[in-house]
Amino acid sequence: MNRRQWVALSAGSFAAGRSAAVAQQTSQSPPAANAGRPPQDTVLPLERYEPKSMLHVPETHVPRSRFPVIDFHTHITFATGGANPGAVRFSMDPANCLAVMDRKNIRTMVNVTGGYGAGLLDAIGKLQTAHPGRFIVFTEPAWTKASDADYSKFQADQIADAHKAGAKGLKVLKTLGLFLRERGSQKLVRIDDPRFDPMWEAVGSLKMPVAIHISDPEAFFLPIDRFNERYEELHAHPDWSFHGKDFPGNRELQEARRNVMRRHPKTQFVCLHVADAEDLPYVSECLDSHPNMSVDIAARIGELGRQPRSARKFFDKYQDRIVFGTDASSSASTPQQTFGDALYEIYYRFLETEDEYFDYAPATVPPQGRWRISGLGLSEQVLRKVYGENAARLIGLSA
Ligand SMILES: [Zn+2]
Repeated sequence: MNRRQWVALSAGSFAAGRSAAVAQQTSQSPPAANAGRPPQDTVLPLERYEPKSMLHVPETHVPRSRFPVIDFHTHITFATGGANPGAVRFSMDPANCLAVMDRKNIRTMVNVTGGYGAGLLDAIGKLQTAHPGRFIVFTEPAWTKASDADYSKFQADQIADAHKAGAKGLKVLKTLGLFLRERGSQKLVRIDDPRFDPMWEAVGSLKMPVAIHISDPEAFFLPIDRFNERYEELHAHPDWSFHGKDFPGNRELQEARRNVMRRHPKTQFVCLHVADAEDLPYVSECLDSHPNMSVDIAARIGELGRQPRSARKFFDKYQDRIVFGTDASSSASTPQQTFGDALYEIYYRFLETEDEYFDYAPATVPPQGRWRISGLGLSEQVLRKVYGENAARLIGLSA
């Protein structure tokens, strides 16, 4: 068999599967033993491939952060939805949270998904009131009422009530822009729809920052095919895909949020997940044009750490407008967010050391894409701000 025949055979076996390849092989003269190529049974399904790095590089263990941390983005409770939409369910035990916090030098966890109404009172009582200074609770909009005629006023009043009850901020899930639809027509409600203006104004006047998640990684808007760099992640969570149907694109969603920030200059917006972590030049442009914008880094060290030189410059330049967050929850299906010691140690290693090529999540296969990250080695001044000072200023906690 000459080289051309061998290439054709390999291509055929790849496309048609092993049985076709075996059939072709047997119809020809038997190949020389192995002939310099791997035997067929070494072909691994992608999900079973777990390559171990052979690099000899420093591995720094960072069990505690250099400065006290405020984790600005956690989900200790979730709104339950359904018949009782404001209610919350506890996904983590506050006592267990406190044990991890003490070990990891976490001063405060911000539970962003605190619901509203009775659910909010429940979350505030068991977290913020029971453990002063250790937990902060944000409220959420009453999305199920968004198509009601009196929604604008209702929502602004709801914010005032939440503030009286002790809520320190407002969380907006990507529900807005990607899931919330008009009752009846089922049209997606725009992020910059004017019905929300009284809500944005109310939180601004009460000094409650808005933790706002808009859009998702760009690959979530593309076909789930062999070119998609998040193929495995989307394969595991096909409902995360926004490809096709009537979804707007990433940039359209981002620009709608910019309209909101522009219209409400006295309201502080913390754009979660670095706003658009794959496009730091665009995020820089947004930060430059919206003084009321900050970002958190939750669940995006996998993005920041694969562009470490750009990320380091970004942190240095916007050191007063970046807050620490993890998106921590009890979910085991998203290891880049699973609350626990291992999660925080990776974040600390990423921010504090110059270690190279390490895993961004405690998982055997990198869950957001098959790459590894390098640390930023931030200065003490930047670490102090990002770990806690910036968030303390936004929430109104004493430093
Ligand atoms: Zn989150």
